[in-house]
Amino acid sequence: MTEQPSVQLSATLTSAFDYLIVGAGFAGSVLAERLASSGKRVLIVDKRPHIGGNAYDRYDDAGILIHPYGPHIFHTNSKDVFEYLSRFTDWRPYQHRVLASVDGQELPIPINLDTVNKLYGLNLTSFQVEEFFASVAEKVEQVRTSEDVVVGKVGRDLYNKFFRGYTRKQWGLDPSELDASVTARVPTRTNRDDRYFADTYQVMPLHGYTRMFGAMLAHPNIKVMTNTDYREIQDLLPWTHMIYTGPVDAFFDFRHGKLPYRSLEFRHETHATEQFQAVGTVNYPNDYGYTRISEFKYITGQQHPQTSVVYEYPQAEGDPYYPVPQPANAELYKKYEAEAQAQPDVTFVGRLATYKYYNMDQVVAQALSAFKKLQAAELAEPEVAVI
Ligand code: FAD
Ligand code: UDP
Repeated sequence: MTEQPSVQLSATLTSAFDYLIVGAGFAGSVLAERLASSGKRVLIVDKRPHIGGNAYDRYDDAGILIHPYGPHIFHTNSKDVFEYLSRFTDWRPYQHRVLASVDGQELPIPINLDTVNKLYGLNLTSFQVEEFFASVAEKVEQVRTSEDVVVGKVGRDLYNKFFRGYTRKQWGLDPSELDASVTARVPTRTNRDDRYFADTYQVMPLHGYTRMFGAMLAHPNIKVMTNTDYREIQDLLPWTHMIYTGPVDAFFDFRHGKLPYRSLEFRHETHATEQFQAVGTVNYPNDYGYTRISEFKYITGQQHPQTSVVYEYPQAEGDPYYPVPQPANAELYKKYEAEAQAQPDVTFVGRLATYKYYNMDQVVAQALSAFKKLQAAELAEPEVAVI
């Protein structure tokens, strides 16, 4: 008796694909759309039961639009990225605001003039707070770690209150063990600007991310298979090139060891009141097992008599969400990167596949640039001579 494949493929899927794309998040979906629009036949698979990757959103039982994998706020300085995504969605302007629960008060984070005045009961001006930061900042010869970044700007007390505990909880590491780039994501301000991001474009997809992904993938050259690990089907049908957007170490069966990815557990709740907290996200640097609580209606703009929130509990084990920026991990990633570059038939794109702590817009930019490279490589290929 011949062995049967574990997955039965429908007749429509047995014809050849130019591309097999693994992962239907931003990296995979942008490439699927670009390649399909350039005439390629694309099969995109995701092992999850939905498209959108970590940016997937859906309505919960109460009818509130939630982000099951944590709050996703779109922001970018790239006109190209904004214009590209605008082909698939209308937008709603949204500027995210975050408060940190410190010493019994909820104070603006990023640290700004109001944070300092409220925390210390002062009445400083912008000019004076600049002098204040200069007076408390520690002298750091070379900014290497996430501790250096913060103590070098705002000193030890603000560091201890706003950054040390949050970072230890989020990463399971002291800030002195993490690359500077992690806490450098959060600026310090001397004015009263209390927006979390300062980017030119701060918008949310008007009907949600999943609708936007649906529009990207609604091309006749694209077939979508969810609930499918690529390893179940990669040998069952012909494809020419693979785009891989999952964790890079898993692709190579962890042959150089496991790359650390930080995970999260999400606790979703719906409350019978219209509003739960004062802003979109409240951070808890020093108390509780969770780092932050986010309330979706602020982010999506939905009107609803109830409200849904999510708590984030950092974990070492579980689905991979964050690459961990540390020198030893960068070294280990280099080994996988070299292996990845030696695969002529596979292109690695995205946050997990390139082990980069990228925001959504950075992943879109990376995918658009990967598409250009694939096109250029195709043009450079010598034509097969027909005799
Ligand atoms: P992913 O979205 O992870 O997609 C990869 C896909 O590959 C997944 O769906 C996975 O199921 C699939 N896959 C993996 N292995 C296989 C396999 N073997 N077979 C089939 N499929 C497979 N960015 C922002 O810009 N703003 C924010 O506010 C923001 N908030 C965030 C909050 C949290 C809690 C997290 C974790 C991330 C946040 N991000 C935010 C980052 C954002 O989620 C990522 O930049 C983006 O989703 C990465 O897209 P991707 O396609 O690279 O990866
Ligand atoms: N951070 C912190 N306190 C805060 C906010 C952020 O210590 O109140 C640090 C923490 O290390 C965090 C990093 O800055 O992981 C980046 O914060 P960001 O909000 O960008 O994290 P993300 O949204 O990617 O989880």
